Amino acid sequence: MEETSKLGKFTAINEIARRRGFFWNSYEIYGGAGGFVAYGPLGTRLKQNIENKLRDIFVKQVGILEMESSVITPGKVFEASGHVANFKEPMVECIKCNKRFRADHLLEEHAKISSATAEKMSLDEIKFAIDENGIRCPDCGGNFNPPQQFLTMFVTTIGPYAGATGYGRPEAAQGIFVEFNRLFAVAREKLPFGVIQIGHALRNEISPRQGLIRLREFTICDLEFFFDPEKPCCHLLKDVENEVLPILLGETRLKNSEETIKVTVHEALDRKIVRSEWQAFFMAMAKRLLVEIGVPEEKQRFIEKLPWEKAHYSSQSFDQEVLLDRYGWTEVSGHAYRTDYDLSSHMKASGADMRVFKEYDTPVETEQVIVKPLMAKLGPVFKKESAKVGELISKVDPQIIRVAFEKHGYYMAGNYKILPEHVEICSQKIVERGKRFIPHVVEPSFGSDRLFYVALEYAYSIKDDRVVMKFPPCIAPTQIGVYPLMSKDGLDTKALELQKRLTREGFTVEYDETGSIGRRYARADEAGIPLGITVDYDTLRDETVTIRDRDSWRQVRSPIKDLPQLMHLYFQGKINFENLGKLV
Ligand code: AMP
Repeated sequence: MEETSKLGKFTAINEIARRRGFFWNSYEIYGGAGGFVAYGPLGTRLKQNIENKLRDIFVKQVGILEMESSVITPGKVFEASGHVANFKEPMVECIKCNKRFRADHLLEEHAKISSATAEKMSLDEIKFAIDENGIRCPDCGGNFNPPQQFLTMFVTTIGPYAGATGYGRPEAAQGIFVEFNRLFAVAREKLPFGVIQIGHALRNEISPRQGLIRLREFTICDLEFFFDPEKPCCHLLKDVENEVLPILLGETRLKNSEETIKVTVHEALDRKIVRSEWQAFFMAMAKRLLVEIGVPEEKQRFIEKLPWEKAHYSSQSFDQEVLLDRYGWTEVSGHAYRTDYDLSSHMKASGADMRVFKEYDTPVETEQVIVKPLMAKLGPVFKKESAKVGELISKVDPQIIRVAFEKHGYYMAGNYKILPEHVEICSQKIVERGKRFIPHVVEPSFGSDRLFYVALEYAYSIKDDRVVMKFPPCIAPTQIGVYPLMSKDGLDTKALELQKRLTREGFTVEYDETGSIGRRYARADEAGIPLGITVDYDTLRDETVTIRDRDSWRQVRSPIKDLPQLMHLYFQGKINFENLGKLV
């Protein structure tokens, strides 16, 4: 029964999404292609509003820099980042119908092996589990070929050269790492600083069957935050230290329990549950983002990833999950402590120096043993080449030269035989002003499409047998509906003027004169329009209008002249519906 109602809600949301133009499956006229969706007008605006909310929090409030880079990426980048070696999923193919499936998902669905366990299984162990549990092709009942690893990046060639392998990026993060030196210069060479990129990512998912949750092309919002691990977090942490994080710890998961603990950011750091202060900061901000798009705190949690579940670059990872009707707890953002993994890898592979210079508070004086070439002695022996020999010697480790002298009585610098009287091994005082190091990175990474689906599901409600999409006003795709009571007697002209005026004020306003006012309200509720303004015969007399609240269906009366200011205050969350006018 419960299962039916879950299906009912999911089906209802998908039906309304298609009918009202939120989203639908792409390429329907050709029979569809799994893992791709098209967003219609309402959906496009809702998705943009969610992404703008993210910008509002991270770019405007925290001061993160935004950038954009290309989707197609030269092979070298993903070889260096480790994706070519690691971005793979186990796959099985049906011998009979040739359908392919993600092996770990089959084990989860048909053998009740948890994803945590399935993720650490080798291909041999997967094969054993499939055989032992008698798992057959869900479509035709056939047996499977032995499992193999499938690279889930889209591969292409760049230009007409077969050897120039390119990949569709599966994350936007690498586009930030490879541009680090330029971005750091733009940030005036100061740590900490962060860069966000919101753009399309491609993952050639093996069998995407979860609508917006698992797509082959989706929008990712990767935020890479660069910092000095030796420096404590700054004043920003103060802002969130009392924010409560519901966390399902890795050790709890290992006991097959789903019990979450509720700890403040302060406690999470104190008890070393979260290792990086910046990571805890971004987890708190991510929780706030989800609240703003309509998910209450108690429907959110962070789960700590087990060592074998973490991405290859991560030293500690948490997934932010939201409870969904159909899919249960579902990841909406990943929080990884990537350390200096990515910058180090790109430094090694490209040869570019990505270290940053850190000045000490007070310069440090050290004694260093050096090899000093004695030019007066080298000159007569090596003549014209003595300068070159001197330079060679000065670069040699003093310990190596010492050992060579003790063992052989000379040291060979290339083809030159150096005797003890040619050099002096002495100590020298060195003053160091600072050091060069590779910044560490924490990354919160959101998927817009999942945030979008979450916003749809949490907005969906039924009132008097009708659907009301209760989007929080700050993300509603249309903010205001303007309706003439009748499309005659000048009411329509007045309403159109009002629509124009409010549009000029920057609001997204829809004018609707079709059908009875009741039907128009019902349509507006389905589209999730928070406020409806009705122009009636009284308006013509006293320049006032009725404002209707989508959620309570209550109405207030207000003068037209006050509307722009009232609407601004309302959509900025500074006043409630009741403050918009006199209750009628
Ligand atoms: P990941 O890099 O795998 O941690 O993904 C970061 C975020 O991107 C996840 O938290 C999801 O919100 C989103 N995401 C990952 N894979 C997909 C997918 N196939 N379809 C839609 N969203 C995805």
